[in-house]
Amino acid sequence: METITTENLINKFSILKSYQQKKVVEYLNNFSALNLIDADLIAGQNMICRKCGSSNFVKNGTHQMKYNLEKTQRFQCKTCKCTQYCDANTVLYNLKIKDKWIDFVYIMLANKEPMDNKSISEILEISERTAFRWRHKFLSSLNKINPLSTQEEIEVDEVYFRFNVKGRIGKEKFDEYYGYQHPDNIESELRKKERFMKEEKYQTIFLCRHNRTDDFEFSPIKIQNKGIVAESDLQRVMKDFDLTEKTIITDKEPSMISYMKTLETVNHLTFRSSDIKKGILDDKNVHNNNINSMMASIRQWFKKFRGVSTKYLENYLKWFRYSNLFKLLKLREMLEYSLLDKESYPRFKNLFKIYKEFIYI
Ligand SMILES: [Zn+2]
Repeated sequence: METITTENLINKFSILKSYQQKKVVEYLNNFSALNLIDADLIAGQNMICRKCGSSNFVKNGTHQMKYNLEKTQRFQCKTCKCTQYCDANTVLYNLKIKDKWIDFVYIMLANKEPMDNKSISEILEISERTAFRWRHKFLSSLNKINPLSTQEEIEVDEVYFRFNVKGRIGKEKFDEYYGYQHPDNIESELRKKERFMKEEKYQTIFLCRHNRTDDFEFSPIKIQNKGIVAESDLQRVMKDFDLTEKTIITDKEPSMISYMKTLETVNHLTFRSSDIKKGILDDKNVHNNNINSMMASIRQWFKKFRGVSTKYLENYLKWFRYSNLFKLLKLREMLEYSLLDKESYPRFKNLFKIYKEFIYI
């Protein structure tokens, strides 16, 4: 590629037609807006101590990182005296190529089709391995922030995904990378369990809540192979949601009806799935059509990956949600959601452990 100087850039720009110039200006505006966002500054807001959770700090000198031009400010916790940087436990922690992070988030979310690792790594000139790790780092944030805004009416349903282990069962790179290396000749308990679950066609079940303004959220319930979800499982997952004074719309599933009866302040409306298919409804607002059409687009969106491993499923569901929300939100807000989640890094490091526990619920 030829070297770009300001002079030849101006020359080239001047011979463009006006619609082409508009396109170039649009690109320039986009890229310069990206570059004006200071991720470190956002990550440093509401800093909390990674050891004791305190939010009282004093500045504690600067440190020259190998991969950073400028020196990085250190902070010391007033309570427990341990030191950290402003990005402790956020997605930026331990990141070597910080200046491309914002571009990465933008590319992840701005495309209607999910971008694969190879394309992202080519655009940003990072390795595929880095692109893979960044994907799951980013998706491991966003957990505690921006919960579904629940208006008066919420559609609720369980959704099912086939239990999936990509590649050789239980011997994925992820395990090895994080130190869960299994000896080749001995099958670990987890591998046996995964093999069994795959052969017996187990389903991974999530609870889906969908409000009536195009936002939705998934919460993992459990993995099982037969039967409906038990009332106790619904209770375990739903007890943390504030459902007071809300209208919950579900189909006539006995365990859901039974659980809803225990919540006195909830207005529970039910419909028969068969009536929806026939197009007969007593009340035209009582349906789960939003969930159903969203699930149809999610299955379409998933096709690109040719199956998603159960251990990453929750992350991918978040990705789908946030790329939908991206239409409504600005990039800076997205980054704030991501960077202000101070449990992101530990959650990323524990993905495998969370998955393992989920299998044994
Ligand atoms: Zn502390």
